[in-house]
Amino acid sequence: MSKEYDIIVVGAGSAGMPAAIFAAQGGARVLQIDADTRVGGTLYWSSGQISAAGTRQQAALGIEDSAEEHYRDAQRIAYGGIDPVLGPLAIGGAADTLHWLMDLGLELAPETPVAGMVHEPYTTRRYVWGHEQAISILKVIEPVHRELVASGAIELRLQTRMTGLLTSASGAVIGVRAESAGEELEFRAPNVALTTGGYAANPELWNEVTPYPLHSHCNPFSRGEGIIAARDIGAKIDRTDQFLATFAGFLQDPDDPLSAWFFQLAPAYRAPWEIYVDGQGKRFLREDHPSIHYSETSLLKQPGMRMVIVFDEGIRQNATPMTVLDKQGRDLRPEFNTHPAFQKADSIEELAGRFDIPPDNLAETVTRYNEAVDNHEDPDFDRLFLPRRIERAPFYGIEAVGVTVISPGGVKVNGNLQVVDQSEKPIGGLYAAGEILGFTRLSGAAFVGGMSLMPAMTFGRMIGEQTAAQLQARAA
Ligand SMILES: Cc1cc2nc3c(=O)[nH]c(=O)nc-3n(C[C@H](O)[C@H](O)[C@H](O)COP(=O)(O)OP(=O)(O)OC[C@H]3O[C@@H](n4cnc5c(N)ncnc54)[C@H](O)[C@@H]3O)c2cc1C
Repeated sequence: MSKEYDIIVVGAGSAGMPAAIFAAQGGARVLQIDADTRVGGTLYWSSGQISAAGTRQQAALGIEDSAEEHYRDAQRIAYGGIDPVLGPLAIGGAADTLHWLMDLGLELAPETPVAGMVHEPYTTRRYVWGHEQAISILKVIEPVHRELVASGAIELRLQTRMTGLLTSASGAVIGVRAESAGEELEFRAPNVALTTGGYAANPELWNEVTPYPLHSHCNPFSRGEGIIAARDIGAKIDRTDQFLATFAGFLQDPDDPLSAWFFQLAPAYRAPWEIYVDGQGKRFLREDHPSIHYSETSLLKQPGMRMVIVFDEGIRQNATPMTVLDKQGRDLRPEFNTHPAFQKADSIEELAGRFDIPPDNLAETVTRYNEAVDNHEDPDFDRLFLPRRIERAPFYGIEAVGVTVISPGGVKVNGNLQVVDQSEKPIGGLYAAGEILGFTRLSGAAFVGGMSLMPAMTFGRMIGEQTAAQLQARAA
């Protein structure tokens, strides 16, 4: 006879670990499976920046804040794009999640809370992180999880990949199909929680559902397998076409869409000395605009989400260096003309040719920009920072593209985190939390600080608590 569980948690990452911990601590028999060789999922990748309002840390600093104000502010940044049911739910539970992490030993970086960093700022200081990005979070959750696994409260099966969902004749979910080391397995439980993350590591699914090029940097297990399994049994998948890319980066391997890495181009880091041009060699934005959302949305509209950063030897020698590092922290500037995204030429026209840009257009753009520098006035884009002309060979170009660390859409859930079908009716026994819901559900097509990781952990915690509460109600 197969073993009985109260809940199967599929995935042991940011959402799955709290789900399993809270369910097990509440007395549920938990099976947790993960395709990876270790627990933690995207916590190994994430910057770990999270937001919460009404926290103990804020109170100690005299910062008045509330979940209502956090939600209002998040919707302002997201242009109203946050799900009106799930947004208040995630934000309303964020302080409890943060306090849980702090009680487990999470130390917040002394420079936090802040209003903003690389994203549009909140109107108050509610944005925090630990000392070691999301590893700080993993380090406090993992020991609790390990203890529950050791005690048998959580049965953990790593390298076990869910391949589908088992349903009853009425369509309710009653378990999962999985494979491990070539063996096909089936596990049954009245509740299944999908916490398998996003799909930014699955080019096939991405190209099918998201109409923007994929240049991603994420956990290779973010293959959308939970989304595919839910879709296969009729779950509603939406928001996959609502997208915003990070400004900006490049593919370390031009043939691998998953090899993206970042440039730090946010004006908050460094005022740009360079100009940014489109595929026609024309400027398309005010490079020194203070809003990163403006730069992100401007790049999103470019064919291929592509632009070329143009500068000259004078800028190379005199500007604060632009951070152009690869993932290993190596400076890429000595590698001009060895990687297709980094080109150096003796004339502007030759540089244009390297990027398939009409040479006359780029020459005209540079001439016009140099006039703006001379006149201290940019009539085209009202750029204010006009430090020096682009005139001294060699000339440099860096091709930059919009990069993603998240995936925009996913399975739709109701306010109880139950996955719904096409007619928005809950599918019995099936819950979901984390990026499988789609990043834009909690952040809109904008980057609202901390609104992926914190909702993932909070919804995971809530699913665990709900499962425990159901059992307790049944026992009573
Ligand atoms: C570089 C980077 C920086 C980021 N920075 C931030 C930030 O600062 N703030 C923020 O809010 N968000 C940030 N994010 C996003 C955020 O970290 C993620 O959205 C969040 O961690 C996802 O949590 P999750 O539980 O949904 O997925 P994960 O943590 O990825 O967990 C999913 C788990 O499911 C497993 N799995 C997948 N498929 C299967 C299968 N078929 N069977 C069994 N197991 C499976 C995976 O192995 C994984 O362990 C960042 C993301 C990246 C990549």
